[in-house]
Amino acid sequence: MSDPGPGRRPIVSVALPLPLRREFSYFVPEGVPVPAAGSRVRVPFGERALTGVVVSADGEEAPGMRELVSVLDPEPVCPPDLLELARRTAARFFASTGEVLKSALPAKLPAAGAIRYRITEKGALGRPRGAEGAILEALAGGVPVAASGLPPEGRADAIRSLEERGWIRPVSQRPERGIRLETAYAAVPEGPADAAGKKPGPRGREALAWLRAVARPSTAAEIRMQTAAGPGVLRTLARGGFVRTFEQPVRPESSPAAPDLPPRLAVTPTAAQNAAISAISSAIRERRYFPALLQGVTGSGKTEVYLRAISEALDAGRGAIWLVPEIGLTPVFSRELSRLFGSRAALLHSALSERERADAWNRVRRGEARAVIGPRSAVFAPVADPGIIVVDEEHDGSYKQREAPRYDAREVAALRAKSAGAALVFGSATPSVEAYFAADRGRLTRLSLPDRIDAKPLPEVAIVDLRKEIARPDEKGIPLFSRALVERLREVFAKGEQAILLQPRRGYAPFLLCRLCGHDFRCTRCSVCRTVHARGRTLICHYCGERVPRPDRCPECGGAVLEAIGAGTERVGERFAEIFPGVSHVVLDRDSARRRGGAGSVLEEFSSGRAACLIGTQMVAKGHDFPNVTAVGVLSADSLLNFPDFRSAEKTFQLVAQVAGRAGRGDAPGTVHVQTFHPQHPAIRRASQHDVDGFCRQELEFRKSFFYPPFSELASILVSSESLERAEEAAAELGATVRKERDLRISGPAPAPLERLQGRWRFQLLLRASDRRAILAALEACMPERPPTGVQIAADVDPQDLL
Ligand code: ADP
Ligand code: ZN
Repeated sequence: MSDPGPGRRPIVSVALPLPLRREFSYFVPEGVPVPAAGSRVRVPFGERALTGVVVSADGEEAPGMRELVSVLDPEPVCPPDLLELARRTAARFFASTGEVLKSALPAKLPAAGAIRYRITEKGALGRPRGAEGAILEALAGGVPVAASGLPPEGRADAIRSLEERGWIRPVSQRPERGIRLETAYAAVPEGPADAAGKKPGPRGREALAWLRAVARPSTAAEIRMQTAAGPGVLRTLARGGFVRTFEQPVRPESSPAAPDLPPRLAVTPTAAQNAAISAISSAIRERRYFPALLQGVTGSGKTEVYLRAISEALDAGRGAIWLVPEIGLTPVFSRELSRLFGSRAALLHSALSERERADAWNRVRRGEARAVIGPRSAVFAPVADPGIIVVDEEHDGSYKQREAPRYDAREVAALRAKSAGAALVFGSATPSVEAYFAADRGRLTRLSLPDRIDAKPLPEVAIVDLRKEIARPDEKGIPLFSRALVERLREVFAKGEQAILLQPRRGYAPFLLCRLCGHDFRCTRCSVCRTVHARGRTLICHYCGERVPRPDRCPECGGAVLEAIGAGTERVGERFAEIFPGVSHVVLDRDSARRRGGAGSVLEEFSSGRAACLIGTQMVAKGHDFPNVTAVGVLSADSLLNFPDFRSAEKTFQLVAQVAGRAGRGDAPGTVHVQTFHPQHPAIRRASQHDVDGFCRQELEFRKSFFYPPFSELASILVSSESLERAEEAAAELGATVRKERDLRISGPAPAPLERLQGRWRFQLLLRASDRRAILAALEACMPERPPTGVQIAADVDPQDLL
């Protein structure tokens, strides 16, 4: 790469996965080729060896500089635009580039440059000159050669262009034992590169039409089943350059591809959908940054807009990234996608093994898959030239990473879309107050889908005043099922329809109480009560996970009258079974999802109709489309409302409106019952009227008067230590330093709402300013490079919760 000049040893600058926000320089040992930016290297750090990513090949000399140990990737694993994105993300969120790269790259990524290339029949006939000619010559013997072994001059571009023309192709890495490979065929969209390709015959044309329609590689067996074309016809098509062939692992679902699936998008978009699709599509084609808010009521067909826009991007030869909330990647959803995009899409599931994640990454890096669907971290997928980035359910809190690096995928998506000249589509029925405001100000173009598909009405929402309900004796004044809800549910189940019940707490009951002395079984390490689980047999701290068996007697007074107070999903399920004997239900929460290897199997049980009622936490409110659901019940809308966070009203509004949106999506209209002790609260009232505008306007007033986002930029600093004194002292010191900064509004230090967590005392400082630069400058000034012994200090820019 760079010539260090005579007598100077090459130095690389490396980002390391450490909380230190700087890069580190290393000498490249004699005889080792200088690794390009984006390659991983092993380097010594103190007494350890770490894996880092080269960010630049001309580093600065530093005193005491050491040599790197080894270069892991002859070719960069991380393309330059991603490297830049990681650096900018780190800067925007006061994080370390190395940590951002670590969460972007799959942990088990095999060394890049190990992909070997083989010359194809077509390539053997080609006569290119220059770099491409040199590569073909090197491959002429027919033996596959790794990219790093090919002539270096202009190598990367030449490989890409040769591959595009089908003159060379990557040889799959040695498959793992037990994985069989099969040959697959895919239509070359632009047809043969040269006019030499003979026109295919009728059976060839039929096969080609099928391949274009399914728009994914298909096996000979499948093509045979769908068309009259046999293997001979396919070989002719391949020779003519009409189809590409490659090896793919035999996948259960790809072997006998379900022939009953319609290969194409079947619905006709509505006028509103069309308007959104065409606005997005023209931006994609014009390579124009187009940030948009797709604001559409629940059931208005937002997904259809994403799918069409993504197809447009792929047709235009560009890539696509579709971010979904953590829970959004259900098997149903994945099936839909593979049906539409086949192997052009890669799923970056969090449930994937590290190996599968690495495979998916490599398929994307090689351009075999150009559409990526995944949660938060998929915003860093190595998609070349993304034409669209979709952020589905934009309001979802899971887009913000809670631990270092604390980035927000929505903001990273915007950075990326801007530099790629891409469409950025934030979609939601209940946009975040920030996105709503940005659309008001014109920073996001508002695309509206005001009606449900087929003019289906939004469900009718009844607010049930729990103060007027009579609790059963064991309910301690907090009735679980109101009379109105029970009545409605009976009706629904009698008709064979389904219902969803939301209870925002998991476990059996939020806490256990000694009736004699009031002891409430707090966690010894966290300042919260332990939650009762396993029908009262176990107590678990939801913050540190510590579990203890439920004692028979109170450890304080020795009394034996211990009562589980309130209800979580588990208890709701138990009560449900009492009230509706013989009606089957499933529970969806973190516990059941973990037990059953993901939310997918629970949701499947419900969507298949094997369970009539779905009971769960917030997880049941997310984007699901169950046409047979005609009733939704929010058992308690209050627990979020009482959260000590300026976003509690917004979260409550979104939750209630979203879960309400699960009702009445099929032919029968839906109803919703929202049970609350605060029937007058604006968040609950507006949600029950599906009044996004009214809610956001009112909430914006509140945010403005109290200088909260989107009217300010916010950062929190959390200081924690096992020693109360040390934490308090360090927080006070930090507070004094930061108070010297200007243009800031500072609150604290004060004990964090969650004062103690996992044995550590926690203090919090909140910084607010009118722009991000002031926040970052203040953090720069006050955050010590090395916190005092035994103290941790973490800065969270634009935090999504303030516990
Ligand atoms: P949203 O994501 O906005 O809540 P969905 O995308 O889930 O809504 O769409 C709701 C339902 O309407 C889905 O079953 C979808 O297949 C269907 N649908 C979407 N667009 C159309 C259309 N143009 N014509 C007919 N049905 C449609
Ligand atoms: Zn705990």
